[in-house]
Amino acid sequence: MSKSILLAEVDENVKTLLSTLLAARHHSVETNGEGKKILNLLALQTYDLVIVGDQLSDIDGIGLIVKIRSVNSQVPIVFLSKTWRDAAVYQHLTKDFRVSLVIHRPIKAALFGAQIESLFSSAEKSIQSHVQNEESIFNTLQGNYLKVLPERFEKLEEAIALAKAHPEDAANLLEAIRLAHNLKGTASSCGFGVLGESASSLEKALDAIRENKLSQHEAAWEEIELIANLVKSNATALTGDPVAQVDKRAFATMESLEEFNFPVPPPAGLDAYEPQDNFDTYDDSSAVRVMVFSSDVMPAHKRIGNKDTGLPVQVILSQNHEDAIAKAGKLTLDAVLIDIDVTQPAPALNLARDLRSLPGYETLPVAFLSTSKQQKYIEDSTHAGASLMLEKPLQSDIFNDAIEYLVNARQGGRPRVLIVDDDDDFVRIVASALGQEGMLVRQMADPTDLLPVIQEFHPDIVLLDVTIPIVSGFDVCRMIRTAAHFQDLPILFLTGQTGLETRLAAFEAGGDDYLPKPVARVELLTRVKVRLERARMLKERSNKDILTGLLIRRAFMEQLNDMAEESKRNGLIFSLSLIDVDHFKQVNDQYGHMAGDRVLATFGQLLKKRFRVEDFRGRWGGEEFMVAFRHIRKETAGGALQRALEELRAMEFHGDHGETFNITFSAGLVSYPDDGVDIEDLIRKADERLYIAKDSGRNQLVTSG
Ligand code: GH3
Ligand code: MG
Ligand code: MG
Repeated sequence: MSKSILLAEVDENVKTLLSTLLAARHHSVETNGEGKKILNLLALQTYDLVIVGDQLSDIDGIGLIVKIRSVNSQVPIVFLSKTWRDAAVYQHLTKDFRVSLVIHRPIKAALFGAQIESLFSSAEKSIQSHVQNEESIFNTLQGNYLKVLPERFEKLEEAIALAKAHPEDAANLLEAIRLAHNLKGTASSCGFGVLGESASSLEKALDAIRENKLSQHEAAWEEIELIANLVKSNATALTGDPVAQVDKRAFATMESLEEFNFPVPPPAGLDAYEPQDNFDTYDDSSAVRVMVFSSDVMPAHKRIGNKDTGLPVQVILSQNHEDAIAKAGKLTLDAVLIDIDVTQPAPALNLARDLRSLPGYETLPVAFLSTSKQQKYIEDSTHAGASLMLEKPLQSDIFNDAIEYLVNARQGGRPRVLIVDDDDDFVRIVASALGQEGMLVRQMADPTDLLPVIQEFHPDIVLLDVTIPIVSGFDVCRMIRTAAHFQDLPILFLTGQTGLETRLAAFEAGGDDYLPKPVARVELLTRVKVRLERARMLKERSNKDILTGLLIRRAFMEQLNDMAEESKRNGLIFSLSLIDVDHFKQVNDQYGHMAGDRVLATFGQLLKKRFRVEDFRGRWGGEEFMVAFRHIRKETAGGALQRALEELRAMEFHGDHGETFNITFSAGLVSYPDDGVDIEDLIRKADERLYIAKDSGRNQLVTSG
């Protein structure tokens, strides 16, 4: 449909380009380069859109936007920016001055058209989601929900009837509240806003009865009945048939979604209904899964939604070693917090080591909890892999920060998905589907801070909504691609429009693929998994040493350079060790080359399982290895390394003909900045110390000289 557009821009080239592009789309365009005139025009006439350039003849673009808003609060504004600005500016523009979109120059013709069209159509976006064709609706969670909805409502009705009939038993009322609450959450998540709202009113009314103990009041129950009827008619309007056939398969999916919707923290009075520690139902979530091993019960941390970071957290409690190992085997944990007894640290240290020895858990992040911030076991705990020592009792903000740190520090583990989309309901549905496939999902509603989040969270894939507020997804993608680090990061667009133009724009902006909204579950999973698998294979092939599973020299150096820069910037320290297996040539000669390979593989595994997730290990070449210890002193790193040497000495290896033998290593250890500030100097120093260790009889660690 043709729109009237006012273009405030001085640059002739931009004016010509945009006028041509917009005219080709049958929009009428009026251009002017003077701020004053623009304001006059806006006072005289209504426009469907104003596009404001960076600089006009009498005022800058942002200044003009401020003035426009003081006289006209309605007209949609697009800001044409020459540069990528910081998050605060975007916040200001969108929140305070309600700018709909910031487009970045240079303008790409195909992108620009798609961006403007998506702006005009985003108003119709919500309506669109209800006019899906039958096939797609039945492939989505909405479809599944419709199938279970009649049964859900019936249960709710029964609970209300029971609560009314037996006011003496509070549990009935609580159950009714819980069901209404779930109905509200899930209906809204599935995009059935009207139903969700009526269920919300019902929940509130039931809650009022509970709070004011109105259960004897006939009038209160009459109101409940009225609202319940409203909910019912809303539900019937969606399903068409209140006693529709219930599809059993649909339940499995919905249960996990409802699980996800459970209030965080639960409203007062609902404690009795907190989900049990039934981890079968937990297993299909996209939330961060943290095991807390403690004899203290910490119900406050059972389920903590971390709204600030977009990482919801699920807590699994365990109180004994076997149980913890069993749960770790059954679930995929993202981090573990272990209570450590200062007077008797062995059980906690052993648990950490045992967990890290389970398949797939070499890089499990660990934190210890203790009543005092004690340094006594710091070497032991670094060796066992503990990244943090947290003080008890644990405050929930510290808990959240710790979890975020641990999860971000981890390399490997569950595939990480970052969804940039402001539509919470949609994200929840997608997150639930991806979570069931074992992925860890983080959401961002506002894309302007995207780069730091990518750097911290290091996602394996990014799902990017095209019509996010403020900037367009296409521009965000172009911005990501300007960083050399993220050339290979898979980026998928999510878009309501799948016309040729949008598809082309997606690829032009540097996207790898696009997904239509609403997305069919199988399609989402297939496309995401295929991209993840390819990216993982590429990374493995180019960064990992096959024999030991550690980083190859180049990849190790890249990480080391990053860490050195980070340390310089923030005035932090780190330690670095060069390790060489002793008399390895003899191992090959005496026990065979295969046995030699087994030694290297086993030693690589040991280095991987020990030390913290934020430390990194590489195969430097042949039988030489490197470990970098992030932000810890040489004494601590040395203590941890010494324990690894003791472990290696105690290991028994087998020759190609069944003989047994032992091995040792020699190592040189240096620290930044005490032993040098340049990486080359540090490595040279470590090498010198390694040779001192060899000269002094091998089987030892040298930290000075
Ligand atoms: P030192 O204690 O002084 O370090 O003596 P060394 O025998 O360990 O050192 P040297 O550098 O003389 O020998 C290293 C040997 O490691 C020689 C090489 O054949 C062997 N090697 C290097 N890479 C591999 C590998 O991938 N597999 C096996 N089996 N052997 C390897
Ligand atoms: Mg050597
Ligand atoms: Mg050697």
